[in-house]
Amino acid sequence: MKEFDYIILGGGCAGLSLAYELDLHKKLENKTLAIIEPRDEYKKDKTWSFWKVLDHNFDDCVKKSWKNFSINSATETKHLKCDNYPYQSIDSELFYKKTVAKLKENKNISFFKDIKDINQNNSFIFNSVPSQESNKSNLWQHFCGVEIKTKDKIFDDEIINLMDFNCEQRDNVHFFYTLPFKKDRALVETTWLSKMNDNSLKDYDNQIKNYIEQNLKIKNYEIVYKEEGAIPLFHPLNEKEKNKINIGTAGGMTRLSTGYTFLNIQEHSKYIRMNIENIQNSKKYEIKKKYQILDKVFLRVLENHPEKMPDIFSNMFNTTSDTVIKFLSNRSNFLEDISIISKMPKWLFIKSLFG
Ligand SMILES: Cc1cc2nc3c(=O)[nH]c(=O)nc-3n(C[C@H](O)[C@H](O)[C@H](O)COP(=O)(O)OP(=O)(O)OC[C@H]3O[C@@H](n4cnc5c(N)ncnc54)[C@H](O)[C@@H]3O)c2cc1C
Repeated sequence: MKEFDYIILGGGCAGLSLAYELDLHKKLENKTLAIIEPRDEYKKDKTWSFWKVLDHNFDDCVKKSWKNFSINSATETKHLKCDNYPYQSIDSELFYKKTVAKLKENKNISFFKDIKDINQNNSFIFNSVPSQESNKSNLWQHFCGVEIKTKDKIFDDEIINLMDFNCEQRDNVHFFYTLPFKKDRALVETTWLSKMNDNSLKDYDNQIKNYIEQNLKIKNYEIVYKEEGAIPLFHPLNEKEKNKINIGTAGGMTRLSTGYTFLNIQEHSKYIRMNIENIQNSKKYEIKKKYQILDKVFLRVLENHPEKMPDIFSNMFNTTSDTVIKFLSNRSNFLEDISIISKMPKWLFIKSLFG
């Protein structure tokens, strides 16, 4: 069986981002790489969105960028600007097309469906397949989104609605998210933060229909695309092994308070590329410890006081939007952290810090 210098397990967002980064920077001219991906064909399955706080390799896959966003709590709507860090949405179909086409041009890169098809004994492995643990006390961000085409041009496509809490909370945290790509096209998503042990929260189709018809007041529309998923708000416990690095969700690249993962994956890919010649001995790449600690406390508050979360999220934006964006994108300095923390209900967070 064939041997390779490197193996990437899982040709999804993290696997393809890493392979693309290595290929782009000519790190695979004298090295061989096998990508193991079981899916038969790549189809659009996700819309990756984030505030653009750093350059990445996929500007040409951006479906739309916005410089304005809003947040609705039960009592108020905040309109905010993000000129310095536009909110971007990447179409996974464009991402898969671009990366797979480029990688297939390199004769040192091969695709396989199953790890059993190759000899992995002497390879360095980048693994993006999360371990399958099921712990009922873990929180998830689970959601379903539909892209709709409306008969009339009714959306303001200059502004996204990041969170709309004007919906049933059912003792959990629930909001809607609307990304208008055009005046007659938008992704409308129902998002829950819960332990995923209550199946009654998953009547997504009903929730979306009611929201579109009653809150957005749209009657004439068709659904042109649907996506559904769940992001773990905990880091999968993939075992540490010599000659193996976990990447993507499996590698702890999700920011646990928000579910944002895409840009962290890009930063991790860059880090691996810069250290590839001595990857066995490089320091483990992690989201900064201060965010890990703050997110843990934040999720404890969320778990114990879900009813307080709409106001907590909304109050966070009482500071400048640049500060919040930098905080949520792991780029805030000490003063910016303090500014965010000062907007939180202090006793609740102090109590949650200790138990
Ligand atoms: C629907 C959805 C929308 C999201 N939207 C956003 C967003 O807007 N912004 C953001 O920052 N993050 C978002 N995320 C979170 C995160 O960015 C994505 O989950 C991202 O795809 C994670 O990349 P990954 O490579 O870790 O996992 P994946 O992209 O899921 O890749 C894992 C790959 O492993 C393959 N695989 C599975 N089993 C095996 C096996 N046994 N052997 C080999 N390969 C295997 C799978 O087929 C898959 O291709 C979203 C997640 C989902 C599910």
